[in-house]
Amino acid sequence: MPETKPHFSLDDTDELKRFLELNDADIHILTNLHQYLKKDPAFFVDQFYSHLLKFEFSKTLIPDETTLNKLKEVQSRYFTLLTSGEYGEAYLRDRFQVGRVHQHVGLEPRWYIGAYRKYISLLIPQISDYVKTDEHECLQTVQSMLKVVFLDIAIAMETYVDKNREAMTRRTAQLSALNKVAVTVNATLGINETLNEVMRCAMDIVKAQASAIVLFDAESRRFTDKYTMGLSRHFVKNMNFRRGGLADDVFKNNHYILSNDLSDTIHPLSDLARKEGISSFVCLPLVSHKRRLGVQYLYFHHRQELFDDEYALLGTLSHIATGAIGNAHLHSRAVTLSMTDELTNLFNRREFMVRLEQDLLRSRRSNKPFSLIMADIDNFKNVNDSYGHTTGDMVLTELAQIFMTVTRDIDIVARYGGEEFIFLLPGIPDDVAFQVAERIRKSVEQLQLHANKQKFFHTSISMGISCFPKCAQDENSLIENADKALYVAKNNGRNQTVVFSQIQQEQNKE
Ligand code: GH3
Ligand code: MG
Ligand code: MG
Repeated sequence: MPETKPHFSLDDTDELKRFLELNDADIHILTNLHQYLKKDPAFFVDQFYSHLLKFEFSKTLIPDETTLNKLKEVQSRYFTLLTSGEYGEAYLRDRFQVGRVHQHVGLEPRWYIGAYRKYISLLIPQISDYVKTDEHECLQTVQSMLKVVFLDIAIAMETYVDKNREAMTRRTAQLSALNKVAVTVNATLGINETLNEVMRCAMDIVKAQASAIVLFDAESRRFTDKYTMGLSRHFVKNMNFRRGGLADDVFKNNHYILSNDLSDTIHPLSDLARKEGISSFVCLPLVSHKRRLGVQYLYFHHRQELFDDEYALLGTLSHIATGAIGNAHLHSRAVTLSMTDELTNLFNRREFMVRLEQDLLRSRRSNKPFSLIMADIDNFKNVNDSYGHTTGDMVLTELAQIFMTVTRDIDIVARYGGEEFIFLLPGIPDDVAFQVAERIRKSVEQLQLHANKQKFFHTSISMGISCFPKCAQDENSLIENADKALYVAKNNGRNQTVVFSQIQQEQNKE
C-alpha cells in the first residue's frame, strides 16, 4: 500500500500564521482576555453543548452521558487553550490531531465550522463585558480572537482533507490489489501457484511479512496440507492444528481471530511466534458459500492490530481465494485422473507417451542417454484362472507398489497395458538399466502373494530393455525394440531380462 504524504504539515503553520496576521500584539491581547475568561469555563461549555445536542448529527457522536462529560472536559480544556496566548508546537500538534479525529469519527466540516459560530457568539458578549467601554479595544480583542479561531479551523480542515485523502488512497490501492488477486488467481490453474498467489496478494494488501494456508481434509477431518511463505523451517515444522485449537475455531465458526501481545488480548502469542519475530497474526477462514477449504494466516512483525477496512478486504479476498483454490483443486484432481491408471495409480499409457516425448527432446538436447524397460507378468492368465480376477488385480497393485519403491523419483513408471508395465530411466544407459531391471525382477520373484488366508503363491516378470540413443532415436522404435527384447525373454523361458543391443550384437555375429 502506498504511503500518502500530507499536503499540509506543521512546517506550513508559520506561513499560515503570517497570512492570518496573527502576531505578538494579538497574543498579548488574548493573554489578558484569558485571565478574565478563566473564571468560568464550565458555564461556557454547558451552553455550547446544549446547543449542539439539539441537532441530529451530535446525537450519533455523543451517544451517552459519559461521552458527553468526557467531551465537555476536552472542550473546556480547548477553550482555555484557545485564548491562552500559547500557540507553539504543542498547541499546533494538538490541532492537527483534531481534524484526523473528526475524519475518523465522521464529524463533517460543516458541523465543526458551525460549532465555532456558536463559540464566537458566546464569546463576543464576554469580550464586550471584559473590555466594558473601550470600543476600539473591544474590536481589537475580537479580531485577535478571530485570527486564532481561523487558524484552528484552517488546520482542522486541512488535516481532515489529508486524512480523507489518505483513506481514499488506501481504499484505491486495496481495490486494485484485490483486482489483481481476482485476475491472477483465476488465471493460474495449478494448486501450488494459486496458493502462492493468494498468499502473496494478501500479504501485499495488509503489508504482512509472512503467510500460511492450511487446508482441511474432509475425509480425515483434519488440517492436512500446509503451504507457507516467509516462515522459518523451524516455525513451519512446529505449527500445530489440534482439534479445538485456533485454526479449528476459525474454520468451524467462520470468523477471524487476531492474536497479539496487547494486554487485553484473548489470544496471546505463542513463544514459537514470538521467537519468529512475529508481533501479531490474524487467522481467517477460507470459506465461501459453496466451499469450506481451510484457513489462512497472515503474520506481522511490527503491528498489533488491523484497520476495519483491512478486515473487510481480507474477507473479500478469502472469498475470491476460496473459489480459485477450489477450482485449482478440482483441476488438479481432474488432471491426476486423466493421467493415471485407476487400479494401480501409476501413469497410464497416454501420459507415459507424453513424458517419453519430453524426455526424448531433453536427452537429445543434453546428449544424455535414457533407457526403457518393458515388463510383462509371466503366465498371468494362470493367476486369473486359478485364483480369480480380484486376486489378479491385487497382484497388479502389489507389483505397481514394488516398482514405485524400487525406482528413483525421476524415473517414470506406467501401466502400459493389461499386465504390461513400462519404465523410463532418465540418464541411464542400458547396461545400468539391466542391473535396475534385475533388481526389480528379483523383488517380484521374492514377493509372497496371498490367494487367500491360507494359500500363498509367487509370480515373475520378463523384461526387455532398449536405450536411447544406442538402440533407436525415436519413441516408436524405442518401444518396439524393448518389446522385441521382451519377446526374446519370454521365448527364452520367462523370468529374465533381455537387452535389445545384445540381441543386435548376437544377430550381427551370426
Ligand atoms: P505370458 O507369460 O506369455 O505373458 O502369459 P500371460 O498369461 O501373462 O499372457 P496373456 O497376454 O495371454 O494374458 C494376459 C492376461 O492378463 C489376460 C488378461 O485377462 C489379464 N489381464 C489383463 N488386464 C487385467 C486386469 O486389469 N486385471 C486382471 N485380473 N487381469 C488382467
Ligand atoms: Mg501381455
Ligand atoms: Mg503376461
